[in-house]
Amino acid sequence: MIYLDHSATTPTDPRVVEAMLPYWTEVFGNPSSAHKIGKAAEKALEDARAAIARVLNCYPAGPAEIIFTSGGTESDNLALRGVAYAQRARGRGQHIITTSVEHHAVLDTAKALAEEGFDVAFLPVDQYGQVSAAQVQAALRQDTILVSVMYANNEVGTINPIAEIGALLKSKRIPFHVDAVQAPGLLPLDVKALNVDLMSLSAHKFYGPKGIGLLYVRRAVPMKPQMLGGQQQAHRRAGTEPIPLIMGLAKALELAEAERAAAVERLTPLRDHLIRRVLDTVPEAALTGHPTERLAGHTSFAMRGLNGDSLLLDLNEVGIAASGGSACTTGQQEPSHVFLAMGIDQDRLMGQVRFVLGKHSTSDDVDKLIYHLAALAERHRAMVPEIS
Ligand code: PLP
Repeated sequence: MIYLDHSATTPTDPRVVEAMLPYWTEVFGNPSSAHKIGKAAEKALEDARAAIARVLNCYPAGPAEIIFTSGGTESDNLALRGVAYAQRARGRGQHIITTSVEHHAVLDTAKALAEEGFDVAFLPVDQYGQVSAAQVQAALRQDTILVSVMYANNEVGTINPIAEIGALLKSKRIPFHVDAVQAPGLLPLDVKALNVDLMSLSAHKFYGPKGIGLLYVRRAVPMKPQMLGGQQQAHRRAGTEPIPLIMGLAKALELAEAERAAAVERLTPLRDHLIRRVLDTVPEAALTGHPTERLAGHTSFAMRGLNGDSLLLDLNEVGIAASGGSACTTGQQEPSHVFLAMGIDQDRLMGQVRFVLGKHSTSDDVDKLIYHLAALAERHRAMVPEIS
């Protein structure tokens, strides 16, 4: 199979697997235990935090700013609920701002908070799926307690002006959460340069293991824990820390950052080549997302009159693994909320496909994709003669 679905997940890097190995059987202790076996695990945990803090440019010691979670979904839930409840308890207000193109982990949590009485604004986006700092500024109120904007969109690859939005919010002292799940290895993660207060990451999106993520939380940000039942992570996320997974996350993040510049340099021209070839070969195809402000390696299209899901099923049959929108919504017969928010034409709404390159992708993979896509689009076109 040719794997072109790196926004859905990535294979775990063998160097990451190797870094995890001692922590299953040798350094297996519970970091909360007082004995030497526990202490060895606690030391590993601290080492992992220090390595992560170097990439994020945050405070390393103890669980002060890095909360380990089960992945991006939990980090997003914790960021929104944790801050919203803490701010409400302090009487700071109930107004939350987010965007209409967030991943469902943010979107559904924001909707649930709205049902609980929070006042949530879902900002519209432009034709590329981007929000601007000016839009955020215009939406701010005296009682705004949290803003959440994704770094890069998983469906269309568009990058938002996070540092600019962050600078605005910093001047107003409003906590700023960024879902950066799609960013590692492709975009800078320095939380100070980005002016972010909270940031969600998920290891399986950057060649780390599944089931582990983190939420960066700047020390001054009020946060109410959402997982109760233990004193781990300074009471902010109960549960025994999964040391092997945490070691894997730390190693994967170090590698992602160390290899980022080279990855971007290699993937950007390959991405642009893929885009050109698709647009040249398939007349129904239109690029979705921003033409330049997009993740290196991320391509996405809306096929006029064609059904994206059936195209993808046929691509799967010839050995190409790709998806439409987010992996979690594939197979649904409804247009993506991202496409709807971007105002994609009605006759393209069901034609969503996404080809996302990763570190093992080659121009040979692109050639094979184009070869099959051209043939399949022709076959599908013949099945809907009214559009040709
Ligand atoms: N946020 C974004 C932007 C994502 O792309 C994803 C995964 O698709 C998530 C959050 C959820 O992450 P996880 O699968 O680790 O729960």
